[in-house]
Formats: sequence, C-alpha cells, structure tokens
Amino acid sequence: MTSAGYAAPQSLSDAVALLGANPSARLLAGGTGLLVAPSRAQVASSMLVDLRKVPGLSSIESGAQGLKIGAMTTLRTLAASDAARSAHPALAAAVLMTSDSQTRARATVGGSIGGRTSGDTDIAALLIALGASVEVTGSSGSRTMPVEDVLASPLGREDIITSVTVPPASARTATAYETQRHPATLTPLVGVAASVTLGDKGAIVAARVGLVGATDNAVRLLKVEQVLQGLSKSVLTGGQAATDGAIRSAASVAGQGLTVRGDLFGSAAYRAHLVAVLTVRAVSRAAKTAAG
Ligand SMILES: Cc1cc2nc3c(=O)[nH]c(=O)nc-3n(C[C@H](O)[C@H](O)[C@H](O)COP(=O)(O)OP(=O)(O)OC[C@H]3O[C@@H](n4cnc5c(N)ncnc54)[C@H](O)[C@@H]3O)c2cc1C
Repeated sequence: MTSAGYAAPQSLSDAVALLGANPSARLLAGGTGLLVAPSRAQVASSMLVDLRKVPGLSSIESGAQGLKIGAMTTLRTLAASDAARSAHPALAAAVLMTSDSQTRARATVGGSIGGRTSGDTDIAALLIALGASVEVTGSSGSRTMPVEDVLASPLGREDIITSVTVPPASARTATAYETQRHPATLTPLVGVAASVTLGDKGAIVAARVGLVGATDNAVRLLKVEQVLQGLSKSVLTGGQAATDGAIRSAASVAGQGLTVRGDLFGSAAYRAHLVAVLTVRAVSRAAKTAAG
C-alpha cells in the first residue's frame, strides 16, 4: 500500500516506528539526493520521514576511537570542522569538491551513504579508504557496520544511519582522492580514494582503496589493496621508476570483477580506463605524501 505524506519525528525511536508502520516510507535528510533522484514519481508517492528534528544526530566528536560524525551533519559543517580538517585533511578537501556551498549546506553525511540514490558520492570513496564504520539503528537495536557493507546493498526498511566513525590514521599514512568530474553536473564520473601506509623502509605495508562512479554502488578495491600490500620491498625501494611501475601493475587489476557501467556521459570502456588511471594517481599521491 502506498501512502504519501510527511512526518518530522522528534526521537529516533519514533522515526524507526514510522518507517516500520509505512511500507512506502523513506528517510529525508538534506533532500539533495532524494528530491532530484530519477525516481521522483516514486519519491512523490512516499511517506517522507524527515530526520531534522531528531536530536543528537548533528555533532562531530573527536576521541580515542576517531572522528565520530553524526548522520545529520551537513557537508558544510564537516568541511569547516577543525577536528575533521586536522585528523583527515583529504576527507575535508573531498567534501569541498561536492557541488556548491548551497548544496553542501543541505547535504548530510548520512544522506551521502544511506540511499539507493547516492552510491556515487565523493565522500563514499573517502570513507571506504579511511576505513570508516557506520552505526545503524533499526527496530532490533543498533549495530556497527563497515561503510563498504552499507554501500554494497540497501539497508533494511527500518534502518537509520546515526553516525559514521573514521578511525585515527596510523603513522606514515596518507590519503588522496582523484576524480574525473561529469562535465555538466560536476558530480564524480569516476573517483578513486586511496589510503596508503608506509613501513620503515618505504614499502607500502597497508592500503585501502575506494571507488565511486564506475559501478552501481561505491566499492572497495580489495584486489588492488592485495597487490599493493604484496609488493616486495625491493620493488618499492628500487627507485621512483620501480615504484611507479609497481603501482601501475596494482592499478591494472582495479577493474577485475567489476561490472562497470556506461551511459551517455561515459561508456563502460572509458570509465574502466579512468578507474585504472585514477587508481595510479591516487595511490601515487598518497604514497608520496606519506613518505613526507
Ligand atoms: C546540485 C547538486 C549537485 C551535487 N553535486 C555532488 C557532487 O559534486 N558530489 C557528490 O558526491 N554528490 C553531489 N550531489 C549529490 C548529493 O550531494 C548527495 O546525494 C547528498 O550528499 C545526499 O545527502 P542528503 O542529506 O541531501 O540526502 P537525502 O537526499 O535526504 O537522502 C539521500 C538518500 O539517503 C537516505 N538517507 C538519508 N539520511 C539517511 C540516514 N540517516 N540513514 C539512512 N538513510 C538515509 C534517503 O532516504 C535517500 O534515499 C549533488 C546534488 C545536487 C542536488
């Protein structure tokens, strides 16, 4: 049964209850993804459950577990946060790439990863690379999930993202984001974020890589990470040419196992090419920054 309407609950439990009671209900955060979605007719016939009056969802806290960002924190607030900028400068920089200041003043962190309309957001790639976890509350309580799992498949109908936690970066770690923008909308056609940790001798000892825009959902590039972590120290300490070659060979597996999408703005072949190119750029820049 479909029941259009609007509700602005004043507690998280009321919001969960509304989602449970209305099969057509959809969460509304900033509305910048939902209200411009291709499936506008579907949105128009939905019960919109607005989270803006639910308390406690808009804070940014820095602690031993890392940076905890409330789901209703706007991208503008995140980009301006001293705590975010000092702990994760690449995240704050990528947030500033998102559209214009008006959109960032509305768009939220939860809305950027919570919907079937927003798997291609810049911030999703960064959160994967940074190893973020997501707190989700539903009718059976709260749970914590890796961000890539949240992005991989739709959450349950009654689930609400309440916060995202980005763990502190390890020593000798840096993150970089490289993107090719859609020429008309300036949204990411393809974006790759890489977080790289170097060991004592300069070899990559850990890497996390997130991809947006090339596939239906943002994904973690596990194969690239495995190749990067398996590179011998001799290759990575054998000079810049050897390092560049090793990173290129890691990037060459980036597209393996992915169903790359194509549309009027970029064919699947073009996007697949961008995946490899942007992976090289992101990993190289992160490694260079981590080396100091
Ligand atoms: C003009 C314009 C330009 C844009 N440019 C960019 C760009 O350059 N880069 C980029 O990455 N994005 C861009 N976007 C997309 C947009 O910024 C993101 O989709 C946005 O971050 C969504 O956040 P929101 O708060 O507006 O979410 P909403 O639109 O309110 O919701 C989006 C989806 O998430 C769900 N949702 C919202 N909150 C939660 C929650 N707490 N828990 C679970 N599910 C939730 C909603 O039900 C919906 O399905 C642009 C959008 C516009 C309108």
